[in-house]
Amino acid sequence: MNNNTTETKEPQQPESFRDRIATVDAKGKRKWVFAQKPKGKFYNIRTWVSWGFFALFFTLPFIKLNGRPLFLFNIPEAKFIIFGKIFWPQDFVIFGLTMVTFIIFIVLFTAAFGRLFCGWVCPQTIFMEMFFRKLEYLIEGDAAKQRLLKNGPWTSEKIRKKLTKHIVFFLMSFVIANFFLAYIIGIDELKKIISEPISEHVVGFLAIIVFSAIFYGVYAFFREQACTVVCPYGRLQSVLLDRNSMIVAYDHKRGEPRGKFKKNQTAELNLGDCIDCFHCVKVCPTGIDIRNGTQMECVGCTACIDACDEMMVAVNRPTGLVRYASEAGISEGKKLSYTGRMKFYTILLVILSGILTLLLLSRKDIDGTIIRTKGLTYQERGKDSLSNLFNIKVINKTVKDMPVTLRLIGVAAREGKIELVGATNIHLKQEDQANGSFFIVLPKTFVTERKMKLTIGLYNGEELVTTLRTNFTGPFKFD
Ligand code: SF4
Ligand code: SF4
Repeated sequence: MNNNTTETKEPQQPESFRDRIATVDAKGKRKWVFAQKPKGKFYNIRTWVSWGFFALFFTLPFIKLNGRPLFLFNIPEAKFIIFGKIFWPQDFVIFGLTMVTFIIFIVLFTAAFGRLFCGWVCPQTIFMEMFFRKLEYLIEGDAAKQRLLKNGPWTSEKIRKKLTKHIVFFLMSFVIANFFLAYIIGIDELKKIISEPISEHVVGFLAIIVFSAIFYGVYAFFREQACTVVCPYGRLQSVLLDRNSMIVAYDHKRGEPRGKFKKNQTAELNLGDCIDCFHCVKVCPTGIDIRNGTQMECVGCTACIDACDEMMVAVNRPTGLVRYASEAGISEGKKLSYTGRMKFYTILLVILSGILTLLLLSRKDIDGTIIRTKGLTYQERGKDSLSNLFNIKVINKTVKDMPVTLRLIGVAAREGKIELVGATNIHLKQEDQANGSFFIVLPKTFVTERKMKLTIGLYNGEELVTTLRTNFTGPFKFD
């Protein structure tokens, strides 16, 4: 990979920044970013936030609720557990609404708060900048030392450092891959893969190796390209952001015309506050110059804010030349405030989240569907009754086995009955589904319509666990 890379010795020329992404040169070759270690208020807060994130990421798979993982995203088996509640493909209404809410949430959130997610919460940024990058600083030193090491000959020190870095990166990727898999298959399954012979868990073992290789490849080589080239959210920024969105922005009104700082500089030069020190560029993990305006490559990591603030303090000028602001705010010289638009979007987001939470909480633990057996309408039962044959599918989303009986509910309960075919109840195993067939038998005198709506109760003992609705079909004409 390194053969394909050339390092960013010079910041990108301003006039060329819209022609190509910052990490690709004119010949289409990768430019390696040697990002300087940021230091400052935002970096410190982000470090604390990242520790919280790591604590959550590495402990959540161990937390169980009612014997279930707190979260599980088993895509191959279409089984999802969110806050200890199991979701099946049959919960498609909730899934559909979740997806719609999620998309609206992303659109509104980004329109109001820009790439806050990318810089502060996105696992790619957090692991890259607050974990692997820090390990790299620890092993190879800061950006200047990294560049020297890369360009220098293969001495024993270079071999030792490179080897150490890549071994550490792979081991860390291996650990992350294990935890990542725990979110898909659960920690208990993962423990089995780790502790039992590989021959019994070939697929699981291969998954760990593949995930480890992917994470290692991303964090050791691919890096910021994941955000600038692959991430669909990143690529959608141009349509999601507008002039009022909160972004990391350079105050061009205050900063321009830029010029190198000189002691005893006279005011006649009419220079802005930007001292053209390139510190904001040197710390940028995606290699861009924030002074060129909003760019798709900016992940909102705030490193340039810290870098610029440090320089402003050094030259005794007010901080905030690069800051959280909106394009409109900077043009109009207004400070970033919690605007009416942001408030409105926040209220909308809270309402959407509330609806979703309500849906998740009100979801039934036992659910099912009843369908009349294909090709059959009604059957005569003796002289005075009619029956319909139905198929039932019941899903048990709880962690206990449950025998379920069926009873008619409402007026029909007095007149008719349910006959399960070949059994007295439907035995539902925990977190499983069961099928059955049953007849509903009703007196002819009761069947007064071609299609009669009936409610069927599913009982565990005397406890009504859920109700399902179906239609009973009778003859066209009644004598
Ligand atoms: S421009 Fe600033 S906020 Fe954006 S990625 Fe670079 S350093 Fe981070
Ligand atoms: S760090 Fe601040 S002063 Fe230095 S070049 Fe960037 S914007 Fe200008």
